[in-house]
Amino acid sequence: MPRHTLVFDLDDTLYSERQFAISGFRACERWLETRFGVGGVVDDMTRMLDDGHMRSLFEIALASRVPDQTPELVEAFIDVYRFHAPEIVLYPDAAWALDHFEALGPLGLITDGQAEVQSSKVNALDIAGRFQHIVYTHALGGRAFSKPHPLAFEQMEAALSKQAGRFVYVGDNPAKDFVVPNARGWISVQVLRPQRIHARAQPAVGGQAQHVVEQLTELPGLLAGLAA
Ligand SMILES: [Mg+2]
Repeated sequence: MPRHTLVFDLDDTLYSERQFAISGFRACERWLETRFGVGGVVDDMTRMLDDGHMRSLFEIALASRVPDQTPELVEAFIDVYRFHAPEIVLYPDAAWALDHFEALGPLGLITDGQAEVQSSKVNALDIAGRFQHIVYTHALGGRAFSKPHPLAFEQMEAALSKQAGRFVYVGDNPAKDFVVPNARGWISVQVLRPQRIHARAQPAVGGQAQHVVEQLTELPGLLAGLAA
């Protein structure tokens, strides 16, 4: 029986969400070029992303190139982003960690965001087969089931508990990732990605990770020192 059962977050834990965003901005640019003959939005959109304006950047970028926009056009533009085929890769230390821990026991994945979008990322990274159980939280009944809703974690425990040592959740965002694992007796580990999208996120009450690492290669050493 493995000493620990690892469950991972996806965005900014296993790969760079900024890389997904820029891949999506390129798709938006191709769409603008094809449909309106205008381009050059990738740099603008990336700058707004880095300034923390993820919510408004689509409307602003579209308005800067297409003066007569409608809500439907904005929605279509955002859909291009959401549903493009992402060009993303695992962080090297994440690829290493999946190899390492997959050999020791079953792994889980819990990820927020629209299920179609999140599964397109899983497919692009070619990691679906690495996990015994994946929970797309929005597929549980919508955005209300996003972390820190407990259902995804309860389902993960039920799916993996026969093989389980103590559960570990590895994520990046203290605003939502660690509240439920902390409350349910899991070990919680935050990985600090330098370019993470939610770098400004404030920890939720009870949401501080118990442990912080800079690379997932640190996990075996960290877990070796903890009770199973
Ligand atoms: Mg994340």
